[in-house]
Amino acid sequence: MQMTRAYAATSATAPLALHEIPRRAPRASDVEIEILYCGICHSDIHVVRDEWKATLPTVYPIVPGHEIVGRVTHVGAAVKTYAVGDRVAVGCMVDSDGTCGECREGLEQFCPNVVFTFNGPDAHLGGVTYGGYSERIVVDERFVLRLPANLELAGAAPLLCAGITTYSPLRHHGIGPGKRVGIVGLGGLGHMGVKLARALGAEVYVLTTSERKRADALRLGAHEVLLSRDAAALAQHAGRFDFLLDTVSADHDVNALLPLLRRDGNLTLVGAPPNPLAVSSFGLIFGRRSISGSNIGGIAETQELLDFCGTHGITADVEVIGIQQVNEAYERLLRGDVRYRFCIDMASLRAR
Ligand code: NAP
Ligand code: ZN
Repeated sequence: MQMTRAYAATSATAPLALHEIPRRAPRASDVEIEILYCGICHSDIHVVRDEWKATLPTVYPIVPGHEIVGRVTHVGAAVKTYAVGDRVAVGCMVDSDGTCGECREGLEQFCPNVVFTFNGPDAHLGGVTYGGYSERIVVDERFVLRLPANLELAGAAPLLCAGITTYSPLRHHGIGPGKRVGIVGLGGLGHMGVKLARALGAEVYVLTTSERKRADALRLGAHEVLLSRDAAALAQHAGRFDFLLDTVSADHDVNALLPLLRRDGNLTLVGAPPNPLAVSSFGLIFGRRSISGSNIGGIAETQELLDFCGTHGITADVEVIGIQQVNEAYERLLRGDVRYRFCIDMASLRAR
């Protein structure tokens, strides 16, 4: 076991601050990674502030971060796919049982024994897992991903959550040429959803509450932008969408969105506001529409996404910060003041 510098919160109201955490000594199947960048996901804030306590209560101290990229510094004797010096990534999961039906289908995110990268049960050291706002991490080879050589590291980090979380439902719902897709909410997930849906060949609309994001939405690849609080504008597009990907992080009215869907259209929730949604039965009954959810993506699909992004030259639009700015970044993220993902340069944690 080694102690590692990290940023942690010790309660739901405490700011993140420098902390020391243990990392296990690498086992034969482990890869040790020096973390170079880590993206800031809105989920980090939900968990740090214990906003999901009804479903996933937070254990303190919490070290968030699940958009990790870095360099391999050590491999165990049984590691086959990685070598010291490789550019690698770790996303939202660090373990699963590997034997259940979900794991056998490559859907580790649904394994009953999945271990998330932070706030998950740590079978090795006890307590909970600690995430990427730290100098290094030790992860079983099965949960390490390879980064395409052409992707710039800071912009690649958000692919590990914002990227896969939008890619997986787009693929699951067969989004491609001839499909009209609405991306609801232009934040970290939403801006990746726009880039990916466009690269998959769909006709892409952004539904945003922020008029000031219109020009960015078009630059990111949207064909059109609708203001989601403009009922008259939405009414003009009733029944025209095959698929809506809802990335909104706060309470909002999905009933205003459902009429946009055509018959058998689907709205997939990836945004995870803490409170339950109220859904009008008629929004679903008329048009046999459906609402569903989607949870990140499996390991094989995450590698597929990274390779897709390598082929298409896709990365996130990031604002790189030092870890000392993380609390300010959280406040700005809550105000929607980020274009479009904060990414921590972990060299700032090593600087003494
Ligand atoms: P984010 O960068 O803060 O983006 C959220 C966007 O939602 C904002 O940019 C804003 O877009 C919109 N929004 C915020 N408040 C709103 C309100 N009151 N009404 C309507 N729209 C509002 O967050 P993120 O990192 O993309 O994460 C989004 C959500 O996805 C979070 O809840 C996060 O926990 C969840 N998540 C889920 C998964 C999964 O596996 N399902 C994975 C990662 C994250 P506009 O300004 O364009 O309206
Ligand atoms: Zn995330």
